[in-house]
Amino acid sequence: MYKYERYLHKSQHLSKEEFEQLAQLYYSNVKHSILIEKFDIDVSSGNLYKCFPPQKSDTECPYCKVNLVNLPISKAQSRSDHRKTVCLSCDHEYENNKCSCGGCTERKNEEAHKKKIAEQHKSESILDFLKKTRKTPVHLKDLTLRDRLYLAALLKTHLSGDLKIIKPVFEYRQALAPTREYTIEMLKYLSHHGAIQLSERAHMQYSLEDNKLRYDPLHSYYDFNVISNESSKMAIIKSLLHPTPLEVHEVEDGYKLWLEIALHESMQYLKLLLEQCGLIRLALGIINEKTSIEISTYLEHFSTSQLFKILWSIANNAAAQKQKYNKSISADALINNITKYCNRAIENNWEIGGYSRTYHNKQTIVSSILFDQILKIGENGFIQKASRDYLEKNIENVGAACQKK
Ligand SMILES: [Zn+2]
Ligand SMILES: [Zn+2]
Repeated sequence: MYKYERYLHKSQHLSKEEFEQLAQLYYSNVKHSILIEKFDIDVSSGNLYKCFPPQKSDTECPYCKVNLVNLPISKAQSRSDHRKTVCLSCDHEYENNKCSCGGCTERKNEEAHKKKIAEQHKSESILDFLKKTRKTPVHLKDLTLRDRLYLAALLKTHLSGDLKIIKPVFEYRQALAPTREYTIEMLKYLSHHGAIQLSERAHMQYSLEDNKLRYDPLHSYYDFNVISNESSKMAIIKSLLHPTPLEVHEVEDGYKLWLEIALHESMQYLKLLLEQCGLIRLALGIINEKTSIEISTYLEHFSTSQLFKILWSIANNAAAQKQKYNKSISADALINNITKYCNRAIENNWEIGGYSRTYHNKQTIVSSILFDQILKIGENGFIQKASRDYLEKNIENVGAACQKK
């Protein structure tokens, strides 16, 4: 016998009139023990109210197809309290996710089973996709300058201690690259060229739709995919962590990377300045293609350090304007102000001093590897404007210094 029905059995000897009398006495605070004795009901005093006849509801039990009933409420409950609606045949409780009746238990087991099968299927198809799209490893000697830079930065910050896997980029405190956008660009470049591969680890985070794998590049694990016929994995990683310096035939590529890092450092600084000035909404949308095109135009004329000074003036003017007119300027107007300032400075040959990096705007790993280890120009990558000639001369100077030694 089911639990709700059991209580009704205890009072089945009472007539309709006796039930009415019992209910009236119960709700007018007569002691339960007196009522239990008077009406001869074998129940504890706390459960007495459960022996009152329930009210039929209009809802059907999904399993037994009989009408559910609204259970009586105890004296302690107020009339507005939720009344349980249950099935007297199987104990199913209406709209209760935790209902443990036979029907609900079976349904939940079936759902769990279906979920397990679906997950197994998802896992198999993603693993299969990863296997099918696996790229052939890249040879150490075939790595481009860009590969060397990105790999050095990524391995330095995110390679696991056992050299087995590249951990998700978001997990590290010290920034890999100046902007989130540039970090994604780096990961996409390396994946596309096959130097790293999306790992099978945590593959259930990915989703496969229309034969296209969707994943968050910043939250994913990667496998290292560089080989060499001559060296062990450890020797390969060692040489990647210490990339070889720029060579004469790589000057053009080195120059491009210099411009890219300068661009993203400038955009990140502008974003930071806007945040510090309280122009939060403007800061949120400022790193985009349009800003990138405008700022990159001036990287041929100014160093990153000089651009920092220009951006500082522009951001602070925007903040002053907001305070004066109580209205924030638009992103387009802000970019327009940068353009005007830079053009005036170029036309009038203004001497622009430079700003240094700040505590909140520290040099990132990819920037320091590029300027210190690959281009070998150190802080000049920040205080000089990007220049092919400068790189060529520097290679000569570094070479001469080495020969002297
Ligand atoms: Zn039922
Ligand atoms: Zn149920």
